[in-house]
Amino acid sequence: MSQQVSITSFNNDHSSIANAIGQINGFAKLHTEDRVLLKPNLVMWDRVYPFPKYGVLTTSVVMEGVVRALKEYGCTKIAIGEGAIVDKGLGSDTTAAFAGLGYHKLRDRYGVELVDFNDGPFVQTDFGGYSLDVSAHVLETDFLINLPVLKTHSNTKVSLGFKNLKGCLNSKSKMFCHHTELPLEGFVCALGEKIKPALTLIDGIYALEKGPVVNGRAYRTDVLIASTDMFAADVAGARVLGFAPEDIAYLQQYAAGYNRSFDDIEVIGEQIKDVAHSLEWDWAWLEDDSGPEAFIRQGIKGIHFPKYDNTICSGCSYLNNYLLIALMGAYAKAPFAGMEFLGGKASRSKGGFAKTFLFGKCAIHANHNNPHISEAVPIKGCPPDIPRILEALTGQGIPADDRAYAAYRAALAKRYENRGEYVEEHFSVMQ
Ligand code: SF4
Repeated sequence: MSQQVSITSFNNDHSSIANAIGQINGFAKLHTEDRVLLKPNLVMWDRVYPFPKYGVLTTSVVMEGVVRALKEYGCTKIAIGEGAIVDKGLGSDTTAAFAGLGYHKLRDRYGVELVDFNDGPFVQTDFGGYSLDVSAHVLETDFLINLPVLKTHSNTKVSLGFKNLKGCLNSKSKMFCHHTELPLEGFVCALGEKIKPALTLIDGIYALEKGPVVNGRAYRTDVLIASTDMFAADVAGARVLGFAPEDIAYLQQYAAGYNRSFDDIEVIGEQIKDVAHSLEWDWAWLEDDSGPEAFIRQGIKGIHFPKYDNTICSGCSYLNNYLLIALMGAYAKAPFAGMEFLGGKASRSKGGFAKTFLFGKCAIHANHNNPHISEAVPIKGCPPDIPRILEALTGQGIPADDRAYAAYRAALAKRYENRGEYVEEHFSVMQ
């Protein structure tokens, strides 16, 4: 039997959100006395640098639209839950994200409960061969509503309904998903097998290229994709982002495991071809692993900086970008060479460099007693924080400071300034 997916244009008010849900009868199995849990994508917050949220976080306008639809339906037990990255240096945690997005107004206005999954409790859950700690709030709710963003992802190509469920795990289990032997896509598929949202609504007011975080590029796309079947929602979402679902490993694995066809989807409303935007997901890297292509433009030579792989977690990945930008800024002041930079759980030095920087506890562990390393420079932490990164670089004579990254983030934010299609108010709850 084909599953329905609604594709609805966002028309700048809450009615389009109610329409997106109504077109697929998204509340058909909802009882007014049910405990409802809404899971947005609030992967992180940032109080230090300019933080354009377009395509990175679920918009508050979609969140409020869903809450209003639930209230009008008669629901009284509504909660919003998320487990954002905790990084003291950046001021990132779930409470900061809730406050920054105006969720306290949803609490005051509609009686919504705000739940930080990171506070627990978690339930050790068997995934067949391994276990992951899943938020008890997610497992115990009567009606889970999944509110991912329409975005690409540098590891899994797309980050939609399935991937958003990774935010329901505790940090140890999130890290476990970036495994040296098991593919990340297998974990993403397994999350969709264990956690069954009653409704998935993909927030595509903005879509993100080269996601999942702030260094990607957001486009205004004004599309809402809803289904009671998360697989169907993700198949449609992948197509809207310009991907064949056959090329998305977790969808392929799920389809094979559950005898699902990518064609068994009935689209209601807008047609995919009319709302599709083909976005890139991958960051170009130099073939000899000497760094990202941006290094060539900057004339940077003599460095070994292999591309991130699936074993690097989101926290390290975010700060790995900081390291790259800090190196570019320092190189412009005083070129340096003969150094390599390794991160993640799988990168082992093959030698040939005067100094090997080991980024984070996993890279330090993976290269413990590595005989090929001339001089190891550990950057401790899980993930390392910014002061430690700068201290390690300057300690080795690399004149890095925070200015390059601050300027980079200011430039990212500037992309969206004074352009009418990027509306900051979409990330706040209006009075
Ligand atoms: S050091 Fe980095 S890659 Fe390793 S577990 Fe911590 S965050 Fe993940």
